[in-house]
Amino acid sequence: MTRKPRILVTNDDGIHSPGINALRNAAASLGEAIVVAPDSEQSAVGHAITISDPLRVKEIEKEGKFYGLAVNGTPADCVKLALKAILDAPPDLVVSGINQGGNTATNVIYSGTVSAATEAAIMGFPAMAFSLYSFQYRDFSTAERIARQMIAQCLGESMPRHMLLNVNIPSIPYKEIMGVSITRQGRSYFDDEFEKRVDPWNRTYYWMKGHKLQLDESDDYDEVAIRNQYVSVTPLKYDLTDESVILTLNDWKLSIE
Ligand code: MN
Repeated sequence: MTRKPRILVTNDDGIHSPGINALRNAAASLGEAIVVAPDSEQSAVGHAITISDPLRVKEIEKEGKFYGLAVNGTPADCVKLALKAILDAPPDLVVSGINQGGNTATNVIYSGTVSAATEAAIMGFPAMAFSLYSFQYRDFSTAERIARQMIAQCLGESMPRHMLLNVNIPSIPYKEIMGVSITRQGRSYFDDEFEKRVDPWNRTYYWMKGHKLQLDESDDYDEVAIRNQYVSVTPLKYDLTDESVILTLNDWKLSIE
């Protein structure tokens, strides 16, 4: 690539989050970084899109300089709008994150961070989602350094269209990270619990909580790689067809009268 790479940056924690600032810095050190991100937190909205309300775009400045564009929509909205209506030229890569909290195993399906990257892949652009594996660890410096290296290496390999990489980064200091592990999406999931509470007007409400069940033991699963202090890189695809069940259903010879 002779010109500098053009990188679209989005997320689900919102344009004002520290994680997108880290990813913007990583992208800007490698090329042109264009930020189009939700104007408010959109964590766990999954692949939702806005179809019944107008989408508005607002220029955001930080320290007196143009920072990016805020959209009153979901992460998938941001990617669609950026690619179809905002960007003058197609990006070489779309990156999403760096999310506060891991997006591994079944969490991937709820993730706005991953969905933004998925949307880009659906539209034919290589995409990477980045998540810092902690909801408490506020230091994004290690994650930024790792994101920069992952982006640089993947751009150097000229990623194919539709390639979708889900990168999870352990929440530990850089020197404690053991390396990079290519992984599969794990199967651990949350054992959901609902705490029943009463509001000041005596109305019942529920608060979802629960704890994650660790079902994965093999080193090639995302959760296990993180536990072993590796950066986890999982290639994803959005075709949800279960090929094995196609054979079963064909055997069943489902029919109508
Ligand atoms: Mn989030």
